[in-house]
Order: sequence, then C-alpha cells, then structure tokens
Amino acid sequence: MARDYTLHSTKGPASGINYKAELNASQYEAVSAPPGHALVIAGAGSGKTRTLTYRVAYLLDNGIPPENILLLTFTNKAAREMLDRVSALVQVDTRRLWGGTFHSVGNRLLRRHPERLGYRPGFSIMDREDQKDLLDSVLGGAAIDKGSYRFPKSEVLAEMFSLAENICCDLQEIIDTRYPYFDLVSEPIHRVHQLYREKKLETNTMDFDDLLTLSVRLLQENEDLLQTYQRMFQFVLVDEFQDTNRLQCDFVDLLVGEGGNLMVVGDDAQSIYSWRGADVGNILNFAEHHPTAKTYKIETNYRSVPEILSLANAAIEANTAQIRKSLHASRPGKGTLPALVQVDNPGAQAAFVAQRILELQDEGVDFNEMAVIYRAHFHSLEIQLELTQRGIPFQITSGLRFFEQAHVKDVAAFMKFAVNRKDEVSFMRLVRLIPGVGSASAAKLWSDWSQCEGSNEGAMTGRFSAYMKEMKVPKKAQSTWDQFGYTLDELIDPQGLPVAPAGMIHSIVEGVYADYMKAKFKNYEQRAQDLEQLSSFGSRYTDPIEFLSQLSLLSGVDTDNAPAAEATQDREAVTLTTAHQAKGLEWQVVFAIWLADGMFPNRRVLDEGSAEGVEEERRLFYVTVTRAKDELYMIYPLIYHAARDGNVLQVPSRFIADLPAGLMEPWNVRSVF
Ligand code: ATP
Ligand code: MG
Repeated sequence: MARDYTLHSTKGPASGINYKAELNASQYEAVSAPPGHALVIAGAGSGKTRTLTYRVAYLLDNGIPPENILLLTFTNKAAREMLDRVSALVQVDTRRLWGGTFHSVGNRLLRRHPERLGYRPGFSIMDREDQKDLLDSVLGGAAIDKGSYRFPKSEVLAEMFSLAENICCDLQEIIDTRYPYFDLVSEPIHRVHQLYREKKLETNTMDFDDLLTLSVRLLQENEDLLQTYQRMFQFVLVDEFQDTNRLQCDFVDLLVGEGGNLMVVGDDAQSIYSWRGADVGNILNFAEHHPTAKTYKIETNYRSVPEILSLANAAIEANTAQIRKSLHASRPGKGTLPALVQVDNPGAQAAFVAQRILELQDEGVDFNEMAVIYRAHFHSLEIQLELTQRGIPFQITSGLRFFEQAHVKDVAAFMKFAVNRKDEVSFMRLVRLIPGVGSASAAKLWSDWSQCEGSNEGAMTGRFSAYMKEMKVPKKAQSTWDQFGYTLDELIDPQGLPVAPAGMIHSIVEGVYADYMKAKFKNYEQRAQDLEQLSSFGSRYTDPIEFLSQLSLLSGVDTDNAPAAEATQDREAVTLTTAHQAKGLEWQVVFAIWLADGMFPNRRVLDEGSAEGVEEERRLFYVTVTRAKDELYMIYPLIYHAARDGNVLQVPSRFIADLPAGLMEPWNVRSVF
C-alpha cells in the first residue's frame, strides 16, 4: 500500500484572524481540522455555514491556493456571500476559487471538455421553456398516437426525466411509482426519452439536469480527467449536505477521490427535499461511508434568543427519525415569548402581518430583517395584496408574484374576455390554449371573431357558443373550441351580464381548465389549489370588473421574478418566501403564516397518511421557526373560505398543538372597525 505523505505550508496564517476568538471550541476544531474527511452535524443556527466560511479562510491562510478549493452550496448567492466574507478576512483573490451550486460547477467542468461527450464547444443550456419547446418538437416527430390514450405534455415529461436522473433510477420506476396513470403509454414515453437525448446532442444543447448527469459521466468515463480534477480539488467543502441527492453525492465522491479532503456540514433535522430525491442517508451514513472521517458537533445556537430556541427544540422533538441534539442558546433572553396568533380569516391574517411590519419598522427594524414564511406559494396571496395596498416593499423568492403565474393569467383571460368581447389579448391567450391552434390560426380566429362582432355593430351580446359555432377552426381543435364556447356561456347570465367572479372561476376550472392543467403542468394539484385560492379571493367581490381591475393593478407592480430578483436583492424589502426557499437564511423577525392543519402540514401529505411524510413536514416547520433571531409570530386563520366547501373552520397546525403551551404567548387580535 502506498504511503500518504503531506507537504506542509511554510507560511503561517497571514490574515491575522484570531480564529479561536471568533469561533467556539468545536467550530475551531472543525475549522482547523487536519486534512482528511470531516462531518459537521449540528442543529439550526449553530454556525455550520460560518464554520465552512472560516474553514475556507483557514485553508487560504495556510497557503492552499484558491484554485485547489471547491465550495458547494445550496444557491450561487450563498457561495458568493461566503466568498465575499472570506475576501474580507483574507487577502486572497477568491474569484480563483471554485464555488457555487452543483449545477454551476458542473457547467464549468463541461465547458472545458464538451467534446469528450460528443458535444461541441459553446453548447447552450436550455431553461425550462426551451426544454419544453425542444420536447415539443421531438413529440411532433415521434409519431405518437395521442388519440387513444392521454399522453403526458412536454412539461410533465421533463419532470419525469429529471426525477429519474436525480435519483439515479430507472425511468420505468418513476412512471410506476409517481405517474401510474401513464403506465399505458410507458413504451412511447421511453421512446421520446431516447429521441430527446439524441436531439439534445444533435442541437448541441443541454438541459439543467445534464449539467450534473453529464459531469458525472465525464468523470466516470475519462480516467485522465478524473485524476486531474481529483488532484486539483484538494479540498472540497459542501454546505447543506442533508439535502444532497444520489447524483450529487456521486459527483462529490468522484471529485474527492481516495486521497482527497472532504468537509460536509448539515443538519438531518433540516432535510426537506426528499420529494425531489434528496437522501438524508447521505449525511447519516457519512461516517460509515468514510471510516476515517472525524465528526464534529456544535451544541450552541448563536442565531436565536432562548425563547425561540426552546420552541424550536420542542418542535422537532416528536420526530422519531433524527439524531438527537441538545442545542443551547448563546444569546441572552428577551423576556418575551414567541407569539401564537389566532385571527378570524386570511384577510385579518394579512392585516395583522402588515400592521406589525409597519410598527416594527417604526421601532427601527429594517424591512430586510423581516420575513413572511409559508408552506405553499399560494399562501402568500393575501399578504401580497395587503402589502401592495399599504405600499410596503417586498421581494418574493417563492416564485412569480401570484397574479403573474400562467394559470392565474389564463383563468383571468377567460374572465376578461367574458366581460369584454373586444379584448384581443385575452382572446389570443385563450385560443392558444387549444391543441392545434398556433399563433397563425389564433390570428385568423381573431379576425373572424372581430368581423362577427363588427356585423353586430359592436354590441354582441348573448351566448358565445352561438357565434363561435359559426366560425371555422382547425379540425383538431373543434371539440375543445366547442367546450370553450359552452364554458364562456356559463360566465354570463341570461341577460348577457357577467356572473360573480367566484362563480366564473368555478365554471372555467370545471369546464375546461382542470383538464388542461392535468395534461400541461407537472404540479397540477398545487395550481388547482392556487385557483381555489383565487376563487376564495374572488368571493369578496360581486362585480367581476372590479375584481379584474384589482388583479391587473396587483400584477402591474414591479416584478421581482427570476433574473430581476438578483438585481433588487439589496433594496429594502420584506421577504416573502416558502419554507423550502428559506433554508440557511435568517431574519430578526419571522411571521410564519397559515399554520393550520392541512396548510402546514400540507393536506396532500396528511391524506397520504405516511408517517415519514409528516416527519418531513415537521422538519420543514423546524426550518421555519429556526429562521427567527429575535421575534417569531405563528399565525393561523380560524376560518378559510374554500371555493367548493364555503367557510371551513380550521384547527391550528398539529405542530403547534404538539408544543407545550408555556413556550408561546397567545395574542388576542381584535379589529376596531
Ligand atoms: P442553518 O442550520 O440555519 O444553516 P447554520 O448552522 O449554518 O444555520 P450560521 O448561519 O452559520 O448557522 O450561523 C447562525 C448565526 O450565528 C449567524 O448570524 C452567525 O454569524 C452566528 N454565529 C455562528 N457562530 C458564531 C460564533 N462563534 N460567534 C458569534 N456568532 C456566531
Ligand atoms: Mg447554514
């Protein structure tokens, strides 16, 4: 067996950082650990990310060249922040260091050696939209008989392929377990998969998952590259290791190799991505997998006041699958307990949050130091509305602003058209939802429709279907076109006047849109919930025109979606985020909303009845409450107006019910108007 021999740096720490003073004993131990494998496993807010940041500084301080370090994080922003921090500590150009998400590192590798995989330099990366277009073109040429059985739309196919790759399992297994209703068409799905792969190569494009799968393949199939990179990345560090999936773990193993040095940090109690293929086993079995690894535990929490920490510790207590940790607070107590706030309804919940935000700002808390956290994106609707109306700036990390989402806009387009038959934009949007109608036939339909309208002297009233029957549509589109006509008819009363908004939404969803969503979107259920929420919001209005104007006004405010969000991140704004996206972050004040059973934990998980599912939801709740440094508000509305069932009485989340009463202070909220 070969002998290990390490060359030591002759230079001492140059930065002058007093590591011992800035870290506690166990953090220091991990930061100054000798080369080899190391696992830091500790609860939320214990300084795991800080430990990694200092570890990078320490390595640089000890003469390790930046290009020999690889730092893998949950977001690119997290890596940037950590490296900025390191740059401030150590006089080294951290831009030479490899840091970022698994995907961004994969991209850098592939850019260097595309030809090894049959790709050409300058390959393009497809976003979801491009991927969908490419899949559509594959589907078009694949001669699939879509007449006899329902065939998944390109977006759904993309999700299936992606899951199979991330969990490293067979596509058939994914169909069997997650999409059993597509079992009948599994043969053509496999065929499309193959054609899609060929098409990507042919067009020199990769999708997002390829950045990882192909990187792994690149290293597996090219011994020389494997050697090069293993030598290059002498030190590999990974944050949030509890949420890595099989593929990411393989990628790390390949890069590190036998003689490498790997430090991973994480918290099994914060593993919240198993539904996307993350495997908590990666962290739990780390020591077994790497027998020489040293394990470090940190038992002090630096983030939260003890009142919040006690509540967090109690919140995770009920989970059976966990490594027990005793976490004590380093900060002094505040004397006030986390608030448990019951409010009458979602409107009151939003009013409460908005009012407290303004009061806190008056007391000197920055908007940037406040966050509203929820289980599902649609929970943010009322809050978005309220904050917009009160002029409170917010940035939303959970996705598009509610009213800008495609499904919400589609439904609104039906409503707008029912109200205003001259609305060309809405008409075009609607007809393009019909299979077989592209831009050209949509334009033709519009011109026919306007003529029809013109011949009625611009006063076209009465049933839509009567006019629509007269029009010629592509054969393939006929049945959906007819159905659109009947649905539009339901949106007006016998006098030709539009019905109330909630009724309209109901008719649209039942008549055409539910079917459309099932075939088109991978997250059909979530979008259906959104529309229910929209309908519940709509029930506040009787006049659809007023309702639609509200929608337009709300979506007209400046957007923070995707690329723009990076640019606006420094602006003073309250953060609205899902619990998943809040991972690793912290704020002085956190409002956890919709803490009712069926909302958080999520209804679907409860219906499935799996104990593991509920434990994952509980970990998500733990992630939520541990984001708060100084103040935590746990809020739930007593009554929720569901579109189908009318007023539903809600019970507080079981995660709250499980907590000892002494750990929170109930607030009685009354309104004076
Ligand atoms: P999470 O599990 O949520 O990712 P974490 O374990 O990564 O949390 P950090 O975000 O690194 O924790 O640290 C939480 C907070 O505590 C940060 O504000 C950090 O600066 C502070 N902190 C950590 N360790 C120390 C320390 N030794 N002295 C002072 N502050 C510390
Ligand atoms: Mg962290």
